[in-house]
Amino acid sequence: MKKAMTLTYEVGNNLYLNITNQCPCNCVFCIRKNDDGAYESDPLWLEHEPSLSEMQSAIQKRNISSYAEIVVCGYGEPTMRLSFLYDLCAWLKSEYPGIYIRLNTNGLTALYYPIKDQSAPALLVPVIDEFSISLNAGSPEIYNQVTKPRNLPDHAYDTMLKFALDCKQLGAKVCFTVVDVIPPEEIQKAQEKADACGIPLHVRNYIR
Ligand code: SF4
Repeated sequence: MKKAMTLTYEVGNNLYLNITNQCPCNCVFCIRKNDDGAYESDPLWLEHEPSLSEMQSAIQKRNISSYAEIVVCGYGEPTMRLSFLYDLCAWLKSEYPGIYIRLNTNGLTALYYPIKDQSAPALLVPVIDEFSISLNAGSPEIYNQVTKPRNLPDHAYDTMLKFALDCKQLGAKVCFTVVDVIPPEEIQKAQEKADACGIPLHVRNYIR
């Protein structure tokens, strides 16, 4: 496993921010199983979790206005650092007015990062424009087989759905994703679930 401090990397017209390697899941399709980076990036395994000033310094080296989207993802699950994620996005919005921020997330933060008096969607929606949430399956059973959430209760699937619906209700743009490692009939069930939520579904190709 190669380690580096690759905090930002480009994918097409977007700039991706790598804020953590922490993740409570072990998805069967996870790109981390096959590589040390993504989309031909430098290694994304971090020597340490970056501080806010380290992220800010890496971002300031980029021409932010030249990117269509700033995508917060991590080579891991970004909401594992929920307060850091909020602080970073709030800083981005104040420093670069008009930028478009997308969060790629498993939507499970309520299970491992409960916050008092405020839900994660209420915290994040004011500073994030779009939420891309891993639906992964059309049923809790297949979800658990695909996502393999570690030490998490059986209601992980419902928790993820609630996160998505709360973000939508608060006015954010939300989309679901599945990866085509699941059979076509399960993709169809995922589509029906997404339709029932009124949230578009994007079917991603598995990257080997
Ligand atoms: S949630 Fe993301 S980082 Fe975590 S195991 Fe799944 S694909 Fe990998």
